Amino acid sequence: MSDNSLRLVWIYPDLLSTYGDQGNALVVERRARQRGLDVARVDVRSDQPVPTSGDIYLIGGGEDRPQRLAAERLRRDGGLNRAVSNGAIVFSVCAGYQILGHEFINDLGEKEPGLGLLDVVSTRGEAARCVGDVLADIDAPLRLPPLTGFENHQGVTHLGPTARPLARVRFGNGNGTGDGTEGAYNDTVFGTYMHGPVLARNPLIADLLLKLALDVNALPPADDRWYEALREERIAAATQPA
Ligand code: GLN
Repeated sequence: MSDNSLRLVWIYPDLLSTYGDQGNALVVERRARQRGLDVARVDVRSDQPVPTSGDIYLIGGGEDRPQRLAAERLRRDGGLNRAVSNGAIVFSVCAGYQILGHEFINDLGEKEPGLGLLDVVSTRGEAARCVGDVLADIDAPLRLPPLTGFENHQGVTHLGPTARPLARVRFGNGNGTGDGTEGAYNDTVFGTYMHGPVLARNPLIADLLLKLALDVNALPPADDRWYEALREERIAAATQPA
């Protein structure tokens, strides 16, 4: 980061913004401004080059065909891989998460190479689509309260030896492998199946990204009363018997 100014890059809103993903960009922007940072946000359409000088990159969820197009264009562009080798932070959701892995199954039923930024491989689930509320405990070193979210995916994601699960589900499917893992991370690259504006429901993940960008262990506190109330409500809803 330079001059107290955070460069936030939202990748391909024209292809991967099916689930209110703009909310994630808005939350990172707001949490950064609340801490006195200037934010320069760049929304990169899929016909534009991905800038390599960003601090935090967001990539959202999408349907199967736009997901393939996004993977093709990101591979051809190479900017996101260069940004990560420069130390950039990436937060990805659902289709974006699958694209960051080694491969996934595309809309034509074929193996589509991903960007290899996460040590995961996604296959097509044979069981029913994973749809519904998720309640998950974050991986211990990340030290955040339980996460709540909503998932909607057919893909199933297998973690390779170097990827850590982002969280473990108490409720919901997460990666869909039956081992209870949800999402993954490798160093500064994160993926989750909790889609839509997951950062609006879990703004402390946005703070985690900011801490990594600023290279600090703590941020000035924000007023999180509304978020705590929403989290309690969603935990109650997810754990109540139907
Ligand atoms: N098309 C992918 C799947 O179904 C991702 C869906 C999504 O982004 N919600 O697995």
